[in-house]
Amino acid sequence: MSLKVTLLGTGTSHGVPMIGCTCAVCTSSDPRDRRTRPSILMQRSDSPEGTSILVDTSTDLRAQALAHGVARVDAVLFTHSHADHIFGLDEIRRFNVVQRTPIPCFGSERTLADLRRTFAYIFAPPSEGGGVPKITLFRIGGPFMFGGIEITPVPLMHGHQPILGFRIGSFAYLTDCSRIPDESWPLLAGVRTLVVDALRNRPHPTHFSVDEALQVVARLAPERAYFTHICHDLPHAATCARLPPGVELAYDGLVLEIDNDHRGVR
Ligand SMILES: [Zn+2]
Ligand SMILES: [Zn+2]
Ligand SMILES: [Zn+2]
Repeated sequence: MSLKVTLLGTGTSHGVPMIGCTCAVCTSSDPRDRRTRPSILMQRSDSPEGTSILVDTSTDLRAQALAHGVARVDAVLFTHSHADHIFGLDEIRRFNVVQRTPIPCFGSERTLADLRRTFAYIFAPPSEGGGVPKITLFRIGGPFMFGGIEITPVPLMHGHQPILGFRIGSFAYLTDCSRIPDESWPLLAGVRTLVVDALRNRPHPTHFSVDEALQVVARLAPERAYFTHICHDLPHAATCARLPPGVELAYDGLVLEIDNDHRGVR
């Protein structure tokens, strides 16, 4: 099973540039220093129907879909319910119209409860005019299949809050985490392409720092690793220059080809 993963957004909750900031990164002319709110799209690249799975509906979902040609979303996986990861949910309306079907959304019990409360209008009786997203909520209780893709939830700690990362074949996406619990390490064994949270150099209570993310990379030893959920402390080019071989900052629009049928990564 081959997968094409597009990093739609690689910024922290404020995005980069931040409103009202004139620092070197926020005013950089390097497009890789422009980071929208965190999200990825995973598409099967080995079948004509090409199942597309979105991870989180970021605040910037509309702009990301337009920038990267996201024309179809077959399902949404939610990592957790922080605003930067869910506030684009209303944009699902377009996919409802284009695909003429409700979109299944998968999350933990807590995430689904938060979605019901935060987006009460979606679940209230339909009002006149102005459409609402048509979504169907499914609780993640363990590994599951969708569109021929086996999805393994990976419990992570985001400060004191348990959230989910996801593993698909040799790929893992671990955004918004400050600790990987003991029981989750075996779920990540053999990962060859890793995307992991690295907010900034200084420690943070709910996100890995660059040094902490490098420790995760050292322990998992993937073939390549990309850091995401990046704030304006990290200039793209200068930071990549000091990272070890095989480790880079991700950037919006980065595409990763994951070949799960063969050893090695294309
Ligand atoms: Zn976040
Ligand atoms: Zn700044
Ligand atoms: Zn968060």
